[in-house]
Amino acid sequence: MANIQKLLPRYSAILDGKQKPRFKESKKVLEEKIAQAFAMLEDCTLCERTCGVDRTKGKVGYCKSEGELSVSAHYVGDADLSMFTPSYDVFFLGCTLKCVFCQNPETSQVEEDKKEITEKGLAKLINQRLTPKIIDFVGGDPLPQLPFVLKVLQEVRKNLPVMWNSSFYMTPEAMNILAGVVDVYCPDFKYGNDECAKRLSDVKNYTGIVKRNIQLAAVDSELIIRHLVMPNHVECCSKPVIDFVYRNFKGKVPLELMSQYTPYWKAKDYPDINRKLRKKEFEEVADYARSKNLTCYESIVKNMDEICKDYIVLG
Ligand code: SF4
Repeated sequence: MANIQKLLPRYSAILDGKQKPRFKESKKVLEEKIAQAFAMLEDCTLCERTCGVDRTKGKVGYCKSEGELSVSAHYVGDADLSMFTPSYDVFFLGCTLKCVFCQNPETSQVEEDKKEITEKGLAKLINQRLTPKIIDFVGGDPLPQLPFVLKVLQEVRKNLPVMWNSSFYMTPEAMNILAGVVDVYCPDFKYGNDECAKRLSDVKNYTGIVKRNIQLAAVDSELIIRHLVMPNHVECCSKPVIDFVYRNFKGKVPLELMSQYTPYWKAKDYPDINRKLRKKEFEEVADYARSKNLTCYESIVKNMDEICKDYIVLG
């Protein structure tokens, strides 16, 4: 694994007790952000779908998230990124995207019951746990729950860094609320063009919005860009994502390539993605990242056999 002190110095400084997590920097600022976030719920424009529904009155928009804390699971567990293990992972119900290959449609489409828990109750559990190195807010997508996330943080006493693990389909206003709160952004940059994004995740203007938000996140804090390599999407999606990282962040932002694609949910209706990823496809993407000398890709390539052995049908 790459040198985390070098890749994420601020995160490392928080773990070493040399710096506070950003949500602890000012109680007053956090209070203001909570007020702003709750105001946005009345005419919801947290994500670029801009549904405009009043979620404080029980209305529900595209994401199906309610006007209260909607958690599907929360526990200390293995984060997706091993450098952050153990993390306190909080999985929220609802999602701003509708990926046909979703691995957790019960969570993203709000088909499972939420865990009854209050903001204070969740914060109490986080405070009681000894081991986590980070609080990982994930989904579905954490964005529709932004006001409640901030209220949880208001009650967290521990000096734990905060990770925002999201599809990044946020409005600039939502990005502005997150600024100064998140320690490590983790954008899930799936597509290299808008046609694939529309067809497979029912989302418009995807690349422009996600690229803009990644640029904003990079100005605000540290980040790791994640990309799931999908079958038959090497040229149209993986390589353009790598090109973007190379052009904008070469040597500054790590890129995490994920190889575990599996055709879940409705993927059987989409012939191009209705199979597991082939090892040679992942290798082609890893080689392309190698040719661009991107930060962090080397550790992924070295570990590829281990990463692939459980997931990839060879040949
Ligand atoms: S967060 Fe949900 S309700 Fe709000 S704009 Fe996005 S999809 Fe609509």
